[in-house]
Amino acid sequence: MLKNTIIIGLMCVSFTGFSQTQCKGKTKNNTQCKNIIKKDNSLCHLHDPNHVVKNKNVHKTVICSGITSKNTPCKSRTKHKSGKCHHHRD
Ligand SMILES: [Zn+2]
Ligand SMILES: [Zn+2]
Repeated sequence: MLKNTIIIGLMCVSFTGFSQTQCKGKTKNNTQCKNIIKKDNSLCHLHDPNHVVKNKNVHKTVICSGITSKNTPCKSRTKHKSGKCHHHRD
């Protein structure tokens, strides 16, 4: 009879897993994401690489075109229309 109990238990687990699932993504703290997602997806909108962010290009940043005091290209990113970070703007 123990065998039947295990099978029923497994069915219950798979049934609840089917109706809603927890996101398989990892947070910054390396813990599992707590967002609940639909069965046809394994990642929430935060972790799904295919999720389209509508305002993606609005805050587009570029790498500063300035040169540092060590004569190497500046690695700072900037949103400024001049394409230079605040260190290299006048
Ligand atoms: Zn997630
Ligand atoms: Zn710069």
